[in-house]
Amino acid sequence: KQLPADPILENTRRQVTNACFSYVTPKQTANPEMVHVSHDMLQTLGLTKEDSTSKEFLNVFTGNSILPNTKPYAMCYGGHQFGNWAGQLGDGRAINLAEVEHNNKTWALQLKGAGETPYSRTADGLAVLRSSVREYLCSEAMYHLGIPTTRALSLALTGDQVLRDMLYNGNAAYEKGAVVSRVAPSFLRFGNFQLLAAREDITTLTTLVDYTIKNHFAHLGNPSKETYIAFFKEVAEKTLEMIVHWQRVGFVHGVMNTDNMSILGLTIDYGPYGWLEDYDVDWTPNTTDAENRRYRYSNQPNVGLWNLFQLANALFPLVNEAAPLEAILDTYKLEYDASSLKMMRSKIGLYDEFDTDFTLIQELEANLQLVETDMTIFYRTLANFDVNAPNEALKLLEDAFYNLDVLTNNIKSKWNKWFAAYASRLKLENTSAEKRKQQMNLVNPKYVLRNYMSQLAIDAANNGDYTLINELYTILKQPYSEQQKYNKWFTKRPEWAKHKVGCSM
Ligand code: AMP
Ligand code: MG
Ligand code: MG
Repeated sequence: KQLPADPILENTRRQVTNACFSYVTPKQTANPEMVHVSHDMLQTLGLTKEDSTSKEFLNVFTGNSILPNTKPYAMCYGGHQFGNWAGQLGDGRAINLAEVEHNNKTWALQLKGAGETPYSRTADGLAVLRSSVREYLCSEAMYHLGIPTTRALSLALTGDQVLRDMLYNGNAAYEKGAVVSRVAPSFLRFGNFQLLAAREDITTLTTLVDYTIKNHFAHLGNPSKETYIAFFKEVAEKTLEMIVHWQRVGFVHGVMNTDNMSILGLTIDYGPYGWLEDYDVDWTPNTTDAENRRYRYSNQPNVGLWNLFQLANALFPLVNEAAPLEAILDTYKLEYDASSLKMMRSKIGLYDEFDTDFTLIQELEANLQLVETDMTIFYRTLANFDVNAPNEALKLLEDAFYNLDVLTNNIKSKWNKWFAAYASRLKLENTSAEKRKQQMNLVNPKYVLRNYMSQLAIDAANNGDYTLINELYTILKQPYSEQQKYNKWFTKRPEWAKHKVGCSM
């Protein structure tokens, strides 16, 4: 059964009811230019490098021509923004082009920044080079980190100028317009289900749930109350798994509104995201959330649960019984603690399980916050820890501290105490030092997309130089490999970049 389309074809901003999407036409651009193409994604879609250099590719992935026999559309969804129900939101600057099948997998192709839709509300449906570089590089980086995510296929300039409020000086200025083409098995969000439930449109809600199960959770079987419960359980598991990965690498999404939660548990909508540099669990890159810090690093697991609770409410009319949904939410809490502990053990090279591990990890996290300590460099370097020389560990890890001068004797002794405890614990493991290092290096990335790295690539790109985009793209394809020649990117963020954050608009 297909999803119901909005019967109105006129592209005006409005409330769209009894439908899951609206047909729209992407905006023609002034002078499109391809900036970068993900060859990895090309291959996954069954396309070649030659395909990607064609005029047709450029036109299709900037919205200037439409593939034969396709009808682009924008999806209708709602969501809770910062804890408040916001009503209809929808694809305000995303347009789905088509679905392609390759190697028995189906991929939805979407343009971000290709012009207005019925869901654009007060905004223009466009994107600028700055936010597009950030989405393009980060979604590919996340994929290669092994984290469930939507992907990016291409990054192009439109040749149009787009008016934006600059983040730092508050003035409006023109910036280069850009379009990212992104790819995922589905772009459905919790908010697609929530909006239909909020409008008590149970007919369309049921159609959407059945469609989602049939196309993305087919192993769950035919629609029934049990299948709906199993569906929710799987969404909860996938969401949890994604968030454990975020915590592992220090990724902070920044806008975990329910319209930014993928029903497939993919990281979606790369806006003001950031990476923990100095390890501070209260950190959020989102300046509009600086007061409440709802989406801070340490709160991401709780927000995941809160968002799942909203999804449970949306699915309730199909289940008509609270207990099984509540049981799944309760399991999330227990599962999160277990998965998180396992993940943290793997970050420090522990594979056996001892009751004392939890405390050891808590003490480590407390120590990491005593002075500014770079999360990525710390864990990566810890793989070189010598169990027979815990007293030399502080020296080994020097590069992870932002300012050695503030390491007081008191702090040094706390660290030495921890290193001694860690050494004793490691001695109980069966793994050789070499093996441990190898395994730790598979969970502790050497390279992540620090905000200042994107910023440098954006500045260069705004001047027409795309070499840094290409370099970062290349490095981030192998984030766990040594890549000695790129060692300059295995370094703390420079002082000028402190407390600067990226912007999503
Ligand atoms: P976000 O917080 O980026 O996930 O966006 C929230 C809502 O605003 C979504 O419905 C977006 O489609 C919409 N939106 C964000 N930026 C724009 C834009 N430039 N033009 C139109 N809609 C936008
Ligand atoms: Mg969004
Ligand atoms: Mg966004």
